[in-house]
Amino acid sequence: MSKKAAITGGAQGIGKAIALAFADKGYEVCIADVDPEAGAEAIQELRERGHEGYFMQVDVGKESDVERWFSWIESELGHIDVLINNAGIARNAPMLELPLASFDEVLGVNLRGAFACSQLAAKLMKRQGSGAIIHMASTRGLMSEPNTEAYAASKGGLLALTHAMAVSLGPYGIRVNAISPGWIETADWQKTSERRTPVHSERDRLQHPVGRVGKPEDVAAACLYLAGDSAGFITGQNLVIDGGMTVKMIYEE
Ligand code: NAD
Repeated sequence: MSKKAAITGGAQGIGKAIALAFADKGYEVCIADVDPEAGAEAIQELRERGHEGYFMQVDVGKESDVERWFSWIESELGHIDVLINNAGIARNAPMLELPLASFDEVLGVNLRGAFACSQLAAKLMKRQGSGAIIHMASTRGLMSEPNTEAYAASKGGLLALTHAMAVSLGPYGIRVNAISPGWIETADWQKTSERRTPVHSERDRLQHPVGRVGKPEDVAAACLYLAGDSAGFITGQNLVIDGGMTVKMIYEE
């Protein structure tokens, strides 16, 4: 029986790279995303590589959508081995003006949505006595730019959720870890980078000891590792994937 991986926000960016990487490793991949057009394109890309994949339009911030997704997974796929809570949004605005509704929206998708999916996935995983859950956090849960409060709180919350869930779910054979990417060059990021000046590009390079920003595939490779048997003794941890950005001190070149 093939292994099955469910990925939220898997239609684009980092999530799509994760879906392709898991499919390439023989997993059946199940994508949930709010964007049906991007979802259809992602499934097409999977098929072009010779893989089958499933897409459902799901807003992880809506409980009824999440329930519909997992009841489909249970009835059609029967079980699930890996859940990757990757869907994420940011509504950055000056802290003194951020509407509380925006704060709730970000927490509702990034943190509450991850918890809602985890609860239902863990119920299925508990039956088989095994499973891996990975939360897509961010280096913004560890360090901040100004005016990113809701996003930072949601990602910091995911780190706390990671160790709390690892402790609760360990006895059922379910491991829970987080990944904290730094700057990752997604299609969206590239759109903004076209407007970036040489000074910005140089600053990006200098920020990263490895001399580059990250690629979605860097994050996908880490997900495969954490989901696999070779990470069987790793739970409750946060793997930072940032080319060394968070360990670099500011100094004069
Ligand atoms: P992206 O915007 O390119 O893709 C996010 C995907 O999530 C999209 O397909 C979008 O439609 C989907 N999505 C948004 N809201 C959703 C919802 N409510 N329900 C279901 N799907 C939803 O973003 P990305 O850069 O690929 O980021 C993916 C994850 O990685 C996010 O959690 C983000 O916070 C995190 N992250 C990204 C970076 C980066 O530099 N790109 C850095 C650190 C962390």
